[in-house]
Amino acid sequence: MKCDICGHDGIATKNVTRSFGKGKDLLVIEDIPVLSCPHCGESYMTADTLLELERIKLHRHSFAVKRPVEVTVFA
Ligand SMILES: [Zn+2]
Repeated sequence: MKCDICGHDGIATKNVTRSFGKGKDLLVIEDIPVLSCPHCGESYMTADTLLELERIKLHRHSFAVKRPVEVTVFA
């Protein structure tokens, strides 16, 4: 698979956890596929992934499972 930024082969996909919003609107999404290029060091998401993230955020109440998590603030 080729990198969209530099065009080199060998891009890797890794699944990451990202959080969106804060406070009572905080939403954590796990296993988001992020493409990471070893050549230019860029990491980015595909348009499909971004669309899916928007969909998940819109429908968070039907998708999300409530889990107790520890949240800290960097002070
Ligand atoms: Zn690249």
